[in-house]
Amino acid sequence: MSEYSGKNVVITGGSSGIGLATAGLLAEGGARVVITGRSQAALDAALERLGPKVSAVRSDVSSLAQLDVLAARVGEELGSVDALFVNAGITRPTPLESTSEEVFDESFAINVKGAFFTVQKLAPLLSTGAGVVLTTSAANAVGLLGTSVYAAGKAALRSMARSLSTELLPRGIRVNAVSPGPVDTGILERTMAVEEAREFKAARMAENPMGRFGTPEEIARAAAFLAFHATYSTGIELVTDGGATQL
Ligand code: NAD
Repeated sequence: MSEYSGKNVVITGGSSGIGLATAGLLAEGGARVVITGRSQAALDAALERLGPKVSAVRSDVSSLAQLDVLAARVGEELGSVDALFVNAGITRPTPLESTSEEVFDESFAINVKGAFFTVQKLAPLLSTGAGVVLTTSAANAVGLLGTSVYAAGKAALRSMARSLSTELLPRGIRVNAVSPGPVDTGILERTMAVEEAREFKAARMAENPMGRFGTPEEIARAAAFLAFHATYSTGIELVTDGGATQL
């Protein structure tokens, strides 16, 4: 029997990067996986790569109405959920002098409000013993230049992992966070100017104790561990950053 066969998984932000790699790992292991994202084209491309164990729902995590639709679709397709990977997120450079209210609000609407309501809306479907994994970021533990809004949002999520753990433990549900360091998923190029992304990447590589970016597959393995194998852990943050915040 495959490792995850019979398990039902929902991954927000599963159309690319870390979410896509996690969907691939778990589906290969036999799980049924529902991925979400904002772009139908990206979801379609992901489904082609991931095969028949995976289905997709276009859903913006910052819209509660769309999260209601997601919960209804997941209820119909999977019935119950054994692992919920709350991974959708955006990165924007947010220098103190030039960051607008709109950029601040968008960052928190997706990275913080979106995560909270994803858990709220899908909680009724979580099975006893289910694992919820929130994607935080190494940025929440250090003071990287121009990241104060993103980092504060991820710090809020790290905190939420603890409080939600307490709320969901009576149902036997664990809530943990995976905290990636720099991972080459294209998120920087999609959200920064080309030159800015290049400089940001070079700086992260130079300061990383392992001298490299992580791969989406490395973060996927950490997320799968928290979701299914870390059965005596709740409220923790598993740091997967090449030692950047630890050494
Ligand atoms: P990515 O851009 O490849 O993936 C982000 C995913 O989130 C995509 O599927 C996108 O469609 C989805 N998404 C974005 N906004 C959404 C919304 N409003 N509603 C629904 N889906 C939405 O990036 P990634 O690097 O794989 O990022 C995944 C997570 O990892 C994010 O939360 C990000 O903050 C976090 N993270 C990434 C890095 C890194 O270096 N790549 C480091 C630390 C943390």
